Amino acid sequence: MATKSTIAWTQKTWNPLAGCTRVSSGCENCYAEKMSRRLAKMAAVHPETAGRKSHYLKVIGQNGHWNHRIALIEEALADPLRWRKPSVIFVNSMSDLFHEEVPLAFILRVFAVMQQTPRHTYQVLTKRAERLREFDAQLPWLPNIWMGVSVETEKQVSRIDDLRGTHAAVKFLSLEPLLGPLPGLDLKGIDWVITGGESGSGARSMDAAWVRDIRDQCVRGKVPFFFKQWGKRRNNPDATDPSAKAKKGGGSGKGGHMLDGRIWDETPKGWSKGSWSPFAQASVANQADSIVPTAIHDGPRTASQPGGAIADVSPIVSMATEPQVRHAEGV
Ligand code: SF4
Repeated sequence: MATKSTIAWTQKTWNPLAGCTRVSSGCENCYAEKMSRRLAKMAAVHPETAGRKSHYLKVIGQNGHWNHRIALIEEALADPLRWRKPSVIFVNSMSDLFHEEVPLAFILRVFAVMQQTPRHTYQVLTKRAERLREFDAQLPWLPNIWMGVSVETEKQVSRIDDLRGTHAAVKFLSLEPLLGPLPGLDLKGIDWVITGGESGSGARSMDAAWVRDIRDQCVRGKVPFFFKQWGKRRNNPDATDPSAKAKKGGGSGKGGHMLDGRIWDETPKGWSKGSWSPFAQASVANQADSIVPTAIHDGPRTASQPGGAIADVSPIVSMATEPQVRHAEGV
C-alpha cells in the first residue's frame, strides 16, 4: 500500500501489521483504529479489489473497534526494498510492532528488512516498552533504526527507562498526544523529543505551559526538540500563528505548529534532513519510488549490536500495487 504520510516528523509509513489493543490513555482516540475501520468497510464493500485492505477485516470487530487480533501482512514486508529513494519511514503507524500477539520471529523479519535497506531511516514507535526491553538483546540494531516510546502523561514515564535500557542507536520520545505536564523528565541517553497535541474529533486539550516546559527541558539537556502541532486551534496561545491556517505549502492545519514565534523541527544530532522539509510533506513522499521486481540488498549487512543475525524475510512480496492511503499515527 502506498503510504505517503501526513505526519510532520516522518515521510512515509510502512505497515506490515494490522490490529492493536488499547493500553493507555493516549489510545482513547486511536487514529489507527478509525482508519482500520474505514479500510475494513472498504474491503467489505469491494472484496474483489480489496487487496491488503482485506487484512483490516480481520482486526475490526462487529462493534467497529479493535477485536484484539493482529494480522501479519506478509506481502508488505518487502515494501521498503522496493522504495529506492532514501526515505524516513514510520514503522507500523497502524499498529504496534511490540504488541503481545506479534511473534518475535515476525519482529525479527521486520528488523531484517530494515537491516537490508540502510538507505532508509526507520522510526519504530511503541507503547509496549517492556516487551521492547525484553527482546532488545535479540534485535539487530543498526544506526538507521530509531527506536521510540510514546508517553502521554506522567503515568507512562517508566517507558523512557525501558527505552534507555535498549541498544538502539537512536532513541526518541513521542510525547503525544500530550495529555498532561511532564516535569523533570530524565533525558539522559535520549536523542530526540517530539511533542504535540491531539487532533480530530473529541481531541483533548493541551496546555501551552506543558509544551514550553518540555521545550525548556530539551534546551537545557541539549536534546533536539520537535514540536509537531497544537492539535486544536484553541490550544494555540498565538492567535496570529500563520501556520494554523495554511494546509498547503507548509502548514499543518492542526492548530498550527509555531511555539512562541518559531518552528521547532530539530532532528537527532548528526542526522541530516537533506532536502526533506518536515512541514511541507505533500510534495515529498513517493515521488521517486519505483517498483522493482526483486528484493534489493544495500551492501554489507552487518549488525553492530547484540542479536546481529539477519532473519529470513521470505516469502518476498506479491507485487500488486494498491490505492494510496494517507496514514496518521497510531502508536
Ligand atoms: S495503535 Fe497505538 S494508539 Fe492505537 S491502540 Fe495501538 S498502541 Fe494505542
